[in-house]
Amino acid sequence: MNSFSQAGLKKLREFKLSGIARTIDVRLTAATADNLSHSEFLELLLEDEVNQRSDNKRKRLYGGAHLPYEKGIEDFDFTFQPSVKKAEILELATGNFITKHENILFIGQPGTGKTHLSVALGLKALGYGYTVLFTSVAEMITTLEQSRADLSYHKKIQLYTKPDLLILDELGYKTMAESTVEDFFEIVSRRYEKGSIIITSNRDFGEWDKIFIDKTLTGAILDRLVHHCHITTIKGESYRVQHRNQKS
Ligand code: ADP
Ligand code: MG
Repeated sequence: MNSFSQAGLKKLREFKLSGIARTIDVRLTAATADNLSHSEFLELLLEDEVNQRSDNKRKRLYGGAHLPYEKGIEDFDFTFQPSVKKAEILELATGNFITKHENILFIGQPGTGKTHLSVALGLKALGYGYTVLFTSVAEMITTLEQSRADLSYHKKIQLYTKPDLLILDELGYKTMAESTVEDFFEIVSRRYEKGSIIITSNRDFGEWDKIFIDKTLTGAILDRLVHHCHITTIKGESYRVQHRNQKS
């Protein structure tokens, strides 16, 4: 096996050519064995670097999304939940809603597949190369609240503003404190017509003033969210409960 010099490897790493650094020994050996021309050898190395970079980018993209699990549209049983129209979900799966900066709301009782569908659309978006961030509403609110204390508020606002798609899971499980409603409004209004949001909630719009308390802010939030929005209200049984019943 040929081996590249330590000094050469160090330079490759300094120039952040880790794809080449990883394969150069193998490529050198193969080049000798197969009598490759200089340009063939160089092309193989460049291809290794390109592959490594796109692999790194993919890992960063998927890792940065913080999806709780990986379940796709193909794992969703539409016959179990007929109020979810497969054609509509497949249309959303094209990612066009992200290009158009539109939002999606999944409203339904626990276990009806809201998170599953959000994750599935998040995976599709990642596949198209979009940046995605998944968080529960409670986690986002806590993060923003704590960031005021450590002066990282602006940075945290950016965290939730920048991704092409922000998935906010479980809106409405808890009533929010007044200061946190303002943070929620801040994110929604900064993303308005600039980036898509998917929200899952167990509460219908009519009840959102119970989540956000302040009627004016509730109106302002709803206005911006619903202006360009695909709303799916899931009316059906909990998949969890049904499948637990079947098992027992
Ligand atoms: P919700 O967010 O509405 O409370 P989830 O999306 O977490 O519900 O669904 C609960 C569990 O049931 C998950 O494991 C999910 O994958 C599964 N599930 C829900 N609905 C379906 C469905 N129609 N087909 C297949 N799996 C489903
Ligand atoms: Mg859920």
